[in-house]
Amino acid sequence: MDAEILKYIGLCAVLVWFLIAGRLFCGKLCPLGFIQDLLYKIPFPVKIGTFAFDKPLRLLKYAHLLYSFVLPSLAVFGILKGFEPYEAGALLYIVLGLIAVIIRRPFCKYACAIGAASSLFNKVSLYKYKTLGEKCIKCGLCTKQCLMNIVPYTAENSPECIRCGLCKKACRKNALVSGFKTTGTGKAY
Ligand code: SF4
Ligand code: SF4
Repeated sequence: MDAEILKYIGLCAVLVWFLIAGRLFCGKLCPLGFIQDLLYKIPFPVKIGTFAFDKPLRLLKYAHLLYSFVLPSLAVFGILKGFEPYEAGALLYIVLGLIAVIIRRPFCKYACAIGAASSLFNKVSLYKYKTLGEKCIKCGLCTKQCLMNIVPYTAENSPECIRCGLCKKACRKNALVSGFKTTGTGKAY
């Protein structure tokens, strides 16, 4: 089969997956996510949750999506003139690997083009998260566990949610559910 056709079939398959699951790959299957989780387990005196420029920095991943790599996209603005894309890519991974020791999932938050693309589907995908308002007591246990520093019970299906499920596990009231259809009883299926 023609390589060009294969490329389009692959692209369609990815889009269908995004429509089904949104960002589920990031939280459950991505090897880079797993590596970042391991790096964050390395003991270090300072561990940072959120900080002043956290939100705007998260837009960088959309730049990565547009330009394929963050650093070449910065080169467009003359910031990294002279960097070859490959070297810049390697540097990016090293820097984010170091940052992953103190911040959870920095690659997912700030740089991943796949995460950026799939995040656009979180609100419309068939697989969804839901908060059962009558059960939630707003204790914040879920928020403490969130890898992406969002508030799970007010931001279900946020583009930043990687659908890792840690918030669900943390909730003692079973107030968070996920699946292709959620019921008012707390069960998802
Ligand atoms: S842990 Fe459960 S009950 Fe507590 S705020 Fe989160 S969703 Fe609500
Ligand atoms: S909201 Fe829940 S599922 Fe989403 S990233 Fe945070 S902990 Fe994971």
